[in-house]
Amino acid sequence: MRNVRAKRNDTRGDGVREKEPRAHAKGHRDRQVEEVVHDPYMARSKPPEPALCPECGVVYHRGRWQRAARPAKAHEHLCPACQRIKDRFPAGYVKLSGDFLDAHRDEIRHLVRNEEQREAEDHPLQRIMDITEEGGVTSVTTTDVHLARRIGEALHHAYQGKLDIKYSQDEYLVRVDWTR
Ligand SMILES: [Zn+2]
Repeated sequence: MRNVRAKRNDTRGDGVREKEPRAHAKGHRDRQVEEVVHDPYMARSKPPEPALCPECGVVYHRGRWQRAARPAKAHEHLCPACQRIKDRFPAGYVKLSGDFLDAHRDEIRHLVRNEEQREAEDHPLQRIMDITEEGGVTSVTTTDVHLARRIGEALHHAYQGKLDIKYSQDEYLVRVDWTR
């Protein structure tokens, strides 16, 4: 996964570009179209079949990682989600803030977890990595971009507030900000 890290640390890359769309999108809700950048972790994760992730037990079969019965004989291979967790390299960053959040912290955390569980069966690689609190801001990191977006949309649907979703133009990465 060295390539991914090198790219992330390259300050001439997305670090500069990301500021541009953010600056003129300020002040109103902005939703961009689905990302076009593919997940490099997924692209590199094509082990011989059947394969089994030794960390979480998902099975690679017919070209995709899925929840399935453990095969009698399987190659051991970390799935893309566990690889990201191991590398501490999220694909989704969700930031929650505001007075309403302060007053409903537990309820909102519950909704966030629910969103992960709701589609866990069909999308076992879409996971929450960490939930942290700092200075009144709750940060949620995810192993893929779809879950991050769904969390933002679920919060917006349940409580309104202001939602901002930004896909990186050159990396498989999304930043979701919700505030109320
Ligand atoms: Zn795994």
